[in-house]
Amino acid sequence: MQLNPDESVVKKTGEIGYGTGLSKKNELILTNQRIILIRKNVFGKTKDVVSFPLSEIVISNQQAQVMPGKKDIVTPTLDVYFRSGMESFIFTWEDEVKEWADCINTMLTGQPGRFKTGDWMEEIEEFAESFAGAAEKVRKAFGIRSTEQVSCSCPSCGASLTGTKGETVRCGYCGSYHTLPSA
Ligand SMILES: [Zn+2]
Repeated sequence: MQLNPDESVVKKTGEIGYGTGLSKKNELILTNQRIILIRKNVFGKTKDVVSFPLSEIVISNQQAQVMPGKKDIVTPTLDVYFRSGMESFIFTWEDEVKEWADCINTMLTGQPGRFKTGDWMEEIEEFAESFAGAAEKVRKAFGIRSTEQVSCSCPSCGASLTGTKGETVRCGYCGSYHTLPSA
């Protein structure tokens, strides 16, 4: 597996399950650019490498849509909502899932996470600080739009349009699409 020149590893977890297979030999790596799933065969050799860009993760209400889930009563999953659909990664420990969810959220929004509690809260604050710069870089590199709200009037019908900077919104009155100003 090759990292990009300005890519760095943030987190790494082994024994990950993915898809319908029962194997939990895969490895999941979080970098400042993507989630990398290294799929391994039964002998532990790399079968293939799948990349999921962080820029494709849906951000709603200023929260990255990444959250703990459950495959069944005892199996925690990390559920990540990409624009193309949801991906579920099967973990062993729920705490690890929460850390992943919080890390990804912090990197994408610059906000502390909301899942892991206890001592982690102090850690996550430090993490948020140390990643504040990195998060900004990630957002810039991938053109992730600022979450600042802007309003303007619909160029077609004059109704008022609201959304985040640079976002394309559909006018509720005339149904046309417009990109909000980014500055
Ligand atoms: Zn309109």
